[in-house]
Amino acid sequence: MERFFQIAIDGPAAAGKSTVAKILSKKLGFVYIDTGAMYRSLTYKAQKENKDLNDGAGLASLLEKTDIRLEYGENGQKVFVDGEDVTEPIRYPEVSAHVSLVSSFGEVRKEMVRRQRVLAESCDVVMDGRDIGTHVLPSAQVKIFLRASVDERAVRRFREEEQKGRHPSMESLRNAIALRDRKDMERAVSPLVKAEDAIEVDTTSLTIDEVVDKILDIVTKRRFR
Ligand code: C5P
Repeated sequence: MERFFQIAIDGPAAAGKSTVAKILSKKLGFVYIDTGAMYRSLTYKAQKENKDLNDGAGLASLLEKTDIRLEYGENGQKVFVDGEDVTEPIRYPEVSAHVSLVSSFGEVRKEMVRRQRVLAESCDVVMDGRDIGTHVLPSAQVKIFLRASVDERAVRRFREEEQKGRHPSMESLRNAIALRDRKDMERAVSPLVKAEDAIEVDTTSLTIDEVVDKILDIVTKRRFR
């Protein structure tokens, strides 16, 4: 069976994973898989249906009945839950504040990981998340762990929010990011941790292009050696 090329990008919230992954996948002609959007989609649906977010088994059974689709077109990524376009709402602070809880349950993660592996079975992929290099794609040819200081990440999020016409306080963004990191790192199942064989890239003082070039360099060396 043909072995497809896999690039795993992990790291804490707002470290630039999705921005970098999107550019990389475009340059390489790979498919981009945003696993965070999948956990956000389930959180959004559970909140909309007033489900108990502390009930892992209930959330897993909701997921069983939920179709999550990631599409990529001219205007970037679109996310659909049971056919509904949820691209915007899954980024709302209400979803961001609860997604770490929803993603902490083993039953939920098991099904998400199964779906993510199916998506990566038939093509070259760039997949980003928290447990891609450690758990979802443990034999990925390239594993990257992106880091950036909390302050830098809060500034980046602030700029993104401003572009969408929202004006949250820097303090609230900083706290939300730090809290989400803590929950993701401290959970019992597949916590956020750098894979032993991942290459760490600190993006704090790098431009997006510099990060992309660094990773492209690594990919080229692995791909054509
Ligand atoms: O990547 P993003 O910040 O959109 O992810 C949202 C949340 O989904 C993370 O904070 C984490 O709780 C969860 N997540 C996860 N495992 C992944 C991707 C995301 O637990 N592979």
